[in-house]
Amino acid sequence: MKSVGIVGGGAGGIFAALGAARAAQEVGEAIDVRLFERNPRIGIKILISGGGKCNITHSGKVEDVLREGFPHINERRFLKSPMYRFQNADVLALLERHGVKWHSRENGRIFPDSGRAEDVLVALETELREAGVQIRVGSRIESAERSDNGWRLTANGKTFEPDALILATGGTSYSKTGTTGDGISFAKRLGHTIIRLRPALAPIYLKQPPPQELVGIALRDVILQISVADKLEASCEGDALITHRGLSGPATLAISREAVLLKERSSIHAEANLLGTSEDEARELVTELQRSRQVQLVKTWLEEILPNRFVPYVLAQSEISIERKWGELTRAERGRLLVKLVRYDFGEISEIPMERGEVTAGGVSLKEVNPKTMMSRRVAGLFFAGEMLDIAGEIGGYNLQAAYSTGWVAGEEAVRYHTAEK
Ligand SMILES: Cc1cc2nc3c(=O)[nH]c(=O)nc-3n(C[C@H](O)[C@H](O)[C@H](O)COP(=O)(O)OP(=O)(O)OC[C@H]3O[C@@H](n4cnc5c(N)ncnc54)[C@H](O)[C@@H]3O)c2cc1C
Repeated sequence: MKSVGIVGGGAGGIFAALGAARAAQEVGEAIDVRLFERNPRIGIKILISGGGKCNITHSGKVEDVLREGFPHINERRFLKSPMYRFQNADVLALLERHGVKWHSRENGRIFPDSGRAEDVLVALETELREAGVQIRVGSRIESAERSDNGWRLTANGKTFEPDALILATGGTSYSKTGTTGDGISFAKRLGHTIIRLRPALAPIYLKQPPPQELVGIALRDVILQISVADKLEASCEGDALITHRGLSGPATLAISREAVLLKERSSIHAEANLLGTSEDEARELVTELQRSRQVQLVKTWLEEILPNRFVPYVLAQSEISIERKWGELTRAERGRLLVKLVRYDFGEISEIPMERGEVTAGGVSLKEVNPKTMMSRRVAGLFFAGEMLDIAGEIGGYNLQAAYSTGWVAGEEAVRYHTAEK
């Protein structure tokens, strides 16, 4: 009996197993599809995804999902084929078959109605069982090597020799969930180029942590900016959250991947455009406020647009007294206020922690994997799926979808390759 070994029971590995089982059914052969997971249960990251609610996928047509979810063109090109082949609608149909109802939020993010990631995972576990997949939990694969007839996997002193091998061990962030980069080491040993691993969708830590009284403040609809030597180099719109070590929240996570690259070259600062407008628009606004609100405290207006606790810090950075009225502002003070409204400086960034990245950028080079089959271009019979590839999408269900799609294709193709070949 032919066999497929899948290392890693995350979204990528689960869908690789399902794709392999489906292909086996189609070719009418009994194939041993075996899924190895080092944790006591598969799908740990699915359980913690979306804050335990699981942002399953993103709604919309494949081309829109690709454009919005994957800003890097090489990732978009690579994912095109797998994402068309196994779409958001396919995963939703599968979950529906197991009673998981879902809804799409206004921003296109899809969640289970129950708000429980557990329900999504239970549905996938049921589907795997029904498909006849052999799940081996508590099995950390220690080595993956070529054997005479295929592959040799070793775990807990036992070996398994599958015809086809699919590596789906994820990235290296959130390592406590089991993702310590084992598959990436296997791929490297097998001759693959590994693009440097970097955090993405991560918080930002500041050299000078924010004052305690600012911790927990959410700045709504700001433009978070990264500056190098006072020059703005990157920006991202959305909400930013002040934490005890620095910044988090959607805008922070979204800008983190670019910030990491900039930080490798020089020291960088995190800034916020608190108005979310251009400098010219901000200048007009401030001029108009000074004209129309002569006797009002500047602080009062700031409190209308910003969290109250944050206002004294904006005034302090602008070197304006908290008692100052609009009519009393000097030209220099008005100029400084304007600058701070569009470039509030949180200070130098000390770290963008890998461990806290919701995804890992970098991984197995996309140039060395055929996106139509997910098979290695270097080693025949070796397939990849999920985050261990050099792919990192935006927040919004895109990363799980990339794992389902690449997994499904890897699974189907691994079976087709071996049933056609031998
Ligand atoms: C906190 C958090 C929240 C997230 N929320 C969302 C969200 O809501 N929506 C979204 O789209 N994405 C989200 N993501 C990202 C998404 O979870 C991942 O991109 C996706 O799960 C990657 O799937 P994967 O199968 O490639 O890897 P993983 O899910 O990381 O799975 C890899 C598996 O391989 C196992 N493994 C590793 N080495 C071995 C070995 N040697 N032997 C056996 N098993 C091994 C690991 O234990 C792990 O279970 C979130 C990530 C985090 C950390």
